[in-house]
Amino acid sequence: MSNNVGRIAVVGAGIIGTTIAYELQRRGNDVVLIDRDAPGKGASYGNMASIAVTEFLPASRPSVWAQMPKWLLDPEGPVRIRPSYLPRLTPWFLRFLAASRPSKLRELEAAGAALCHRVYEDFDELLEHTGLAHMLSAEGCLSLYADEAEFRADREHIEVLERFGFRHEILGGNAIRDLEPALTTKIAKAVLFPDNRSVKDPYQLVLKLSEQFLSLGGRIEQGEVVDFDKGDGVRAVRLKDGRAIDASQTVLCAGAHTGKLARLLGEPIPLETERGYHTQIMDPGISMRHSIIWPARAFMVTPTAGGIRVGGTVEMAGLEAVPDYRRAKVLVKRAKEALPDLRANNATEWMGHRPALPDTVPVISSSAKHRGVFYATGHGHLGLTYAATTGRLIADLVTGIAPPIDLKPYRVDRF
Ligand SMILES: Cc1cc2nc3c(=O)[nH]c(=O)nc-3n(C[C@H](O)[C@H](O)[C@H](O)COP(=O)(O)OP(=O)(O)OC[C@H]3O[C@@H](n4cnc5c(N)ncnc54)[C@H](O)[C@@H]3O)c2cc1C
Repeated sequence: MSNNVGRIAVVGAGIIGTTIAYELQRRGNDVVLIDRDAPGKGASYGNMASIAVTEFLPASRPSVWAQMPKWLLDPEGPVRIRPSYLPRLTPWFLRFLAASRPSKLRELEAAGAALCHRVYEDFDELLEHTGLAHMLSAEGCLSLYADEAEFRADREHIEVLERFGFRHEILGGNAIRDLEPALTTKIAKAVLFPDNRSVKDPYQLVLKLSEQFLSLGGRIEQGEVVDFDKGDGVRAVRLKDGRAIDASQTVLCAGAHTGKLARLLGEPIPLETERGYHTQIMDPGISMRHSIIWPARAFMVTPTAGGIRVGGTVEMAGLEAVPDYRRAKVLVKRAKEALPDLRANNATEWMGHRPALPDTVPVISSSAKHRGVFYATGHGHLGLTYAATTGRLIADLVTGIAPPIDLKPYRVDRF
């Protein structure tokens, strides 16, 4: 039911913007979804497809810091900072440092867990309304450990999940291979996260949602947003080709590019990009039902509609630098250690920009400066996971409905 908020411009047609636009249109509003490209071609195109409800821990936690020197010195390590980008990264990195105080970490964990506890309620409702429930797999994710030392190193993660009540099951060797026969016998232990299910094709999910948005009467405009007409709030969104799209409410959800748009409104967000890579293997020679993560080797493998996807890694090099596909190749090499019969001849490689905030928690917020402006960005490694929840929460904010959780931890002016 519409609360008569006037036309709403949603900027960015990734999984976040498309979900927000769909939800607002479904509630009876007049919504224009704007993207410089076709929907779903940003980070949402090639992510690892995981509804990763157990991966909300802040990246600034002690166990990450402890491994950072080793990771940064290893050219094949899971985190890479391009030296030329280091000066630009420094302000973000100082905020990352500030987010590692123990009391801050407890707050950030609680903020991530509060969203993750909502994820399936919101996702199931979204998939049901759109008739897309078949796009969600039934199986969870296995976290792999070669020995007790690797398992102990990940213990902190599991303890936090226990504290917040997320389901998991610890498995030994034979039970692991009963679940996934393609795994090497070198894996001594695993933790099954049954609720870390995956979608079969994250790009198709965006496309289907955008089709449904259109079928409800929504409008999609292709064009790059370069400015705003400001008055009491934003009155119109200006495109590079000179067009202006009138709107009384504007939602900015352009992924890793949202920082640039927020600066135009005098409301800077410390947004960086954590670049990640995938290799999509069309003819892998094995079959899998669960996704797998091997924390000590820092890669993920997900069975998807188009074969098996291997991905992960964090590369700090900004929005403009060309991809370095050696990082994707390292991940495949590691995946073969877990899956010895994996064949990767028929494969494509991809790089995407995760929108990353220094405290790991996304911004889901009304503007602190402009009436009728909202932000949904910084979803980092969990944009697909949080999409339905963010869509619902932003739709509540825009239409003046009290959201079901306290949104203070996700405010844009918290930095
Ligand atoms: C390798 C990798 C693996 C990942 N795995 C997972 C996973 O398993 N689970 C999970 O939950 N998340 C995962 N993520 C993270 C997830 O993909 C992102 O958090 C999510 O896609 C962000 O969605 P978004 O809509 O905010 O951004 P995007 O998908 O990047 O969309 C932003 C859109 O804004 C548009 N845009 C930008 N600037 C402008 C402008 N000025 N005017 C108009 N349009 C503009 C772009 O064209 C783009 O379409 C992964 C990411 C990567 C890179």
